Amino acid sequence: THFGSEEVPLADKARRVSGVFTSVATHYDTMNDAMSLGVHRWWKDAFVRTLAPVPGMAVVDVAGGTGDIAFRILAALDAAGGGGGGGAGGAAPTPPVRVLDVNPDMLAVGRRRAAAAAVPPSRLTFAVGDAEALPLPPASVDAVTISFGMRNVSRPATALAEAVRVLRPGGRFLMMEFATVRHPALAAAYDAYSGLLPAVGAVVAGDAPAYRYLVESIRRFPGQDAFGRMMRDAGLQRVRVTDLTGGVVAIYSGWKG
Ligand code: SAM
Repeated sequence: THFGSEEVPLADKARRVSGVFTSVATHYDTMNDAMSLGVHRWWKDAFVRTLAPVPGMAVVDVAGGTGDIAFRILAALDAAGGGGGGGAGGAAPTPPVRVLDVNPDMLAVGRRRAAAAAVPPSRLTFAVGDAEALPLPPASVDAVTISFGMRNVSRPATALAEAVRVLRPGGRFLMMEFATVRHPALAAAYDAYSGLLPAVGAVVAGDAPAYRYLVESIRRFPGQDAFGRMMRDAGLQRVRVTDLTGGVVAIYSGWKG
């Protein structure tokens, strides 16, 4: 199976991506720990440190899934001493974090986590929304984040254009994605490890295709330089790409002028 290959029509890619995340939703969080040996937690912490959210900021976390980035942003706001949201009376204020995702099953897990942590909708909302057609007005958000989501999107250039559209002038686009390992020894080890993932996925989750998709989608996604160019082409400024773990993952930052 060649998920995400050029020969596969885009509608097929969208359907396959949806099937993959529906089948992994309930064990997504545990599998992330298993597959990344816990390192994804550290990457996500680094991502939110890079965002450095401040009280009053309106963030939209696109492809936010089960809320890993959203909960970290709220924790960072709490640490900054201003949880935000929850204004008394009147029209509901914009929550500091809004999660959008195409997959209702991933969102359902996120909503359950929010309920379990007693996070109110005044601080965090979950809604169905496509990265390629964001259900938001132009120039309405301070930051668009997307973590491990872009490589699942059928048309990344369209998703970038949408992020730029909804950002206010001076707003920030911040993305984290699997990237190209630049260190040769690490690249070989990483390749070998990737080759094992479908088998591990079969044993641990009974779901080899989902993990074959994961590995394929990582291999096919543009590298740091190519995606940095796409960001500039989309009109983002001061584009910066920072490797984590030797380039296994990279953080991409750009600003709307
Ligand atoms: N951001 C979360 C994280 O870092 O843990 C979830 C990442 S998960 C690997 C990828 C998510 O992208 C899935 O929840 C999937 O449903 C979502 N997704 C795929 N295509 C999308 C699209 N076109 N628009 C919005 N979300 C999408």
